Amino acid sequence: MADVRAYRAALVHCLDDPAKAGEEAVVWHPDGLLLVEDGHVADCGDWTALSPHLAADTPVEHLPGRILTPGFVDTHIHFPQIDMIAAFSGQLLDWLEEKTFPAERVFADRAHADDAARAFLDELLRNGTTTAMVFGSVHRASVDALFEAALARNMRLIAGKSLMDHGPEGLADTAASSRAETESLIADWSRRGRLGYAVTPRFALSSSREQLAAAGEILHAHGHVWLQTHLAESPQEVAQVAEAFRESKDYLDVYDQFGLVTDRSVFAHCIHMTPRSLDRMAEAGAAIAHCPTSNLFLGSGLFDLAEADRHGVKTALGTDVGAGTSFSMLTTAAAACNVAQMHGSPLDPLRAFYLATLGGARALGLEDRIGSFAAGREADFVALDPAATPLLARRLYGVRDIREILFALMVLGDDRVVTRTWLAGRSAHSRD
Ligand SMILES: [Zn+2]
Repeated sequence: MADVRAYRAALVHCLDDPAKAGEEAVVWHPDGLLLVEDGHVADCGDWTALSPHLAADTPVEHLPGRILTPGFVDTHIHFPQIDMIAAFSGQLLDWLEEKTFPAERVFADRAHADDAARAFLDELLRNGTTTAMVFGSVHRASVDALFEAALARNMRLIAGKSLMDHGPEGLADTAASSRAETESLIADWSRRGRLGYAVTPRFALSSSREQLAAAGEILHAHGHVWLQTHLAESPQEVAQVAEAFRESKDYLDVYDQFGLVTDRSVFAHCIHMTPRSLDRMAEAGAAIAHCPTSNLFLGSGLFDLAEADRHGVKTALGTDVGAGTSFSMLTTAAAACNVAQMHGSPLDPLRAFYLATLGGARALGLEDRIGSFAAGREADFVALDPAATPLLARRLYGVRDIREILFALMVLGDDRVVTRTWLAGRSAHSRD
């Protein structure tokens, strides 16, 4: 017997990028119906059109005043930084040395990692994030802990152990140990439940050439794994990379020389890019994880989304906790709008919503699984309360325009507006 459930509420989702396909790509049903069968979306549309066709015994949950959206997709976040978010320091390289590396050292301990993994996944779900691409620490225990916790929740999660043989004491692996551990983690976890593995060189300065070469070999040996790393985040970092890799055309080319620029590769930040490297990313089908709250927090720079668009590079959003200042993809989308304003290229809130949902799925190559309410997608979705705070309730009273509603939710909302989160059709977080 199929497990069929129907939800009646307002619904919004994207079928395409509204920057390319126009605003019709954003589907809005003020009184909608979402039909879920065995953890997948079976149908979605207007309540009046679809409800007469429901089988008489289908349970219908009515959620008046709620807006259902696909679960948010966070394409860049660091699990072992959960406990050092909001740590004051200097810019990127100082912040790493003073705040980040000490916090990551404790993830060698499995019991600590298990405790943090529960809190980390709870926090993602409280914020309506149902898929994330996650950096573990250098320690295999951190990744084992995170995958075990995500598997138990049937959550779609991509993660990997940081590769950093040039890392500081207590956080350095070797090219040989990192290859063995990565291969072992892939064998243990990749494609179990909804888990995926990402080969994870931390950034160019943290790895030897031997380690980067091994990362490329592993990536190409397993067609089902991803690559995640950082690229062109801060001017100081870019200068140091140019010094350390004099043979490379630019920062992206360092990764390219080791076979790391592919359509399964996600590069965080990409603020200080050459036109050549943006063209090369577009050609390869690689994606950018734009992390605006982090970039503002560390003073790294202002990512230029319009420029990435002109070069045809796929872009999505990442929180980059703990340099990022919020787990909320709504807050992150609002920050992306603010950063775009600084370039004089306003980001339409409908597009920002796309970037946080279907755009994230596309960056990960998972658009046939998640990111929208198209039939057959996994039923990862959230319920938002547009009256979650007194100010939102006043601001959105009587508002029916979905662009206006989404923008107010981004600017004024955060985890407080997420009342429920479902994973594969099962409630995984609720505050109702
Ligand atoms: Zn990062």
